[in-house]
Amino acid sequence: MIDTDVDLQPLNTLAIAAKANYFARVNSLEQLLEALEFSRRRQLPVLPLGGGSNIVLTGDFPGLVIHLQLQGVSMVDTGEDTLVTAAAGENWHQLVMRTVEQGIGGLENLALIPGCIGAAPIQNIGAYGVELRDIFWDLTAVHIASGEQQKFSASDCQFEYRNSVFKGSTLDQYVITQVRMRLPRRWVPRVDYPALQHYFSEHRLDAAEQGPDEIARAVIAIRSSKLPDPAEIPNAGSFFKNPLVSESCYFALKQRYPELVAFPAGERWKLAAGWLIERAGWRGRRINNVGVHHRQALVLVNPGRGPGAEVTRLAAEIATDIYQKFGVELEPEPRYYP
Ligand SMILES: Cc1cc2nc3c(=O)[nH]c(=O)nc-3n(C[C@H](O)[C@H](O)[C@H](O)COP(=O)(O)OP(=O)(O)OC[C@H]3O[C@@H](n4cnc5c(N)ncnc54)[C@H](O)[C@@H]3O)c2cc1C
Repeated sequence: MIDTDVDLQPLNTLAIAAKANYFARVNSLEQLLEALEFSRRRQLPVLPLGGGSNIVLTGDFPGLVIHLQLQGVSMVDTGEDTLVTAAAGENWHQLVMRTVEQGIGGLENLALIPGCIGAAPIQNIGAYGVELRDIFWDLTAVHIASGEQQKFSASDCQFEYRNSVFKGSTLDQYVITQVRMRLPRRWVPRVDYPALQHYFSEHRLDAAEQGPDEIARAVIAIRSSKLPDPAEIPNAGSFFKNPLVSESCYFALKQRYPELVAFPAGERWKLAAGWLIERAGWRGRRINNVGVHHRQALVLVNPGRGPGAEVTRLAAEIATDIYQKFGVELEPEPRYYP
């Protein structure tokens, strides 16, 4: 059941060639517990893997990669909402489409995000004005060190913008096996995001009148026009988080660059990292095997299927340049391994 020296290139969307010293594909809770037992006996680090769309492999992984293939979805109408339960290995986008096809709203803005259910809480996935935390109910996870199962409520997960407890105090301690979401019967469309407003007005449609299905279709159309498909051009989506800055920093930058793109975020401002990178002249640039996408400056691409070090070097060069030009620190969104 445990393989050795397994090629991870087909299992990460940046198509980086790297190997897992040990590799287990798990289809059931029993198999997961056995794999974790193996990692404990050999004291191996564990990398739970879903769709590989938010990782950068900088070398071979010197431990056990557990490819989660747990399957199963259930939808229960509670009267007030639909309780959706999905196993970690289910594909995120397919689940979104399953709900909208049944006329159930709540997930439509998150259509076409690659990856699996189990990874969605890790960075509190978000797009087009909605984040997982808006509809999240709870999750079940296995504690890697003890093999015990544990439930996490929304508040346990400590969701923030592209962040959760699983990237903080419990980093590398749990494998998520199941996620539950509550999709309210009294659904309200979330169409205030500028790209969605623009899409519906271009198509002469009243945004507020659209159902979950139409909104999902709009999101898919917008995303497909902007973002490269990893199957054609290897990439990991947005490479940097949008930096949160103080009000004074925002106003100082806005004075220097009136066309700066930013959104209020509580007492702070969220700057569009893509705008900063484009303004610094990086869009479309290529260095050896890697580069910055020609349509979307926030997306680093790996058309030459180069090693992870080329991707991280390019990311570091961009971050240094942005700091020098704007005084703003960029933080990568995908996780680097090992
Ligand atoms: C083209 C493109 C567009 C994207 N657009 C968006 C977007 O709009 N919004 C957004 O938020 N993200 C976006 N992403 C990033 C990515 O799709 C999400 O972060 C997604 O949730 C990652 O899922 P995955 O299964 O591929 O995770 P992986 O890359 O396999 O894993 C990511 C991290 O989660 C951990 N992990 C995975 N599964 C589990 C588990 N079951 N238990 C514990 N830890 C686990 C891994 O160890 C790793 O640290 C995009 C990526 C691409 C390539």
